[in-house]
Amino acid sequence: MSVKKVDVAVLGGGPGGYTAALYCARAGFSVTVIEKMAPGGQMATTGRVDNYPGFDEGVDGFELGERMQRGAERFGAETLFADVTGVELAGDTKRILTTDGELEARAVVLSTGASPRELGLPEERELRGRGVAYCATCDGMLYKDKTVVVAGGGNSAAADALHLAKLCKKVILVHRRDTLRASQVYLAPLRESGVEFVWNSRITGILHGAQVTGVRVEDVKTGAEREIPCDGLFVAVGRVPDTALFADQVKLEEHGYVDADETTRTDLPGVFAVGDLRSKPLRQIVTAASDGAVAAHFIEEYLLQQA
Ligand SMILES: Cc1cc2nc3c(=O)[nH]c(=O)nc-3n(C[C@H](O)[C@H](O)[C@H](O)COP(=O)(O)OP(=O)(O)OC[C@H]3O[C@@H](n4cnc5c(N)ncnc54)[C@H](O)[C@@H]3O)c2cc1C
Repeated sequence: MSVKKVDVAVLGGGPGGYTAALYCARAGFSVTVIEKMAPGGQMATTGRVDNYPGFDEGVDGFELGERMQRGAERFGAETLFADVTGVELAGDTKRILTTDGELEARAVVLSTGASPRELGLPEERELRGRGVAYCATCDGMLYKDKTVVVAGGGNSAAADALHLAKLCKKVILVHRRDTLRASQVYLAPLRESGVEFVWNSRITGILHGAQVTGVRVEDVKTGAEREIPCDGLFVAVGRVPDTALFADQVKLEEHGYVDADETTRTDLPGVFAVGDLRSKPLRQIVTAASDGAVAAHFIEEYLLQQA
């Protein structure tokens, strides 16, 4: 099979990847985005995005993904629907192995994103979007004036609980320890917010009909179980960056995110990291898109130096 040669290979067609593709294609480079599922990445799994600017009535996440794809393809970027199965990123010519052939690229954008860590409960996946949520900033409004449980005890859980407390009738934070791991800055606001705490407890089951109706929690000290009625469960127990493919080639920070700064450069020349897989304080569509634009700027600089 022939090897396709491009200036820029973009691994992952989420908002970060397609923005990088748009900017690189507009700059005149040949670009292929390799996406294993559908354009849009994580946002394609949500029916409503209300915080991406320019859509005054919100936008369906899947539709936004398709629009990003078409926007990049208008300038000549191509999409290869395939799974990236291997990469060789160290040399001047980067090799990308996929389930639909091999590519060689002069520069590579790593944009395979990150996934929310799940609690691992049997019903959890099936109830995603039907009461189980992983992003309070994104989905909080759907639970306005309702009762929600937040699972977790770190900064994300604290921030999610505070965000939800402004919208919801009641917020109950369930944590397996007797104190939060969250930064001090959250503690006083949390106390004042009216958030209720269920300490030393872990969620062992989700109660549901078509939608979530409650959770079952176990006291980790006594083993006693009880049910807490609620309309939604926000899981905030961390994220898992999808970086296993290149973990042995680019430098990762301790939690597995690619160690790239605001320039999106990695420790390998010609390899750039954008969006949720990069170490950064806020993982959202708009920040992934921003990374994509920044990456294209430095890719152009890199490729012109190489020429
Ligand atoms: C349910 C949900 C709702 C959300 N709602 C909002 C919201 O309303 N507003 C907001 O700003 N943010 C929201 N977010 C967060 C937002 O979607 C992410 O921050 C954003 O999508 C990150 O973009 P990304 O380009 O870094 O990666 P991702 O969106 O994670 O995309 C990565 C892409 O890479 C592909 N990929 C991974 N591995 C491979 C491989 N080996 N080969 C080929 N392709 C691969 C994946 O299929 C995926 O399409 C939400 C997230 C979720 C899960």
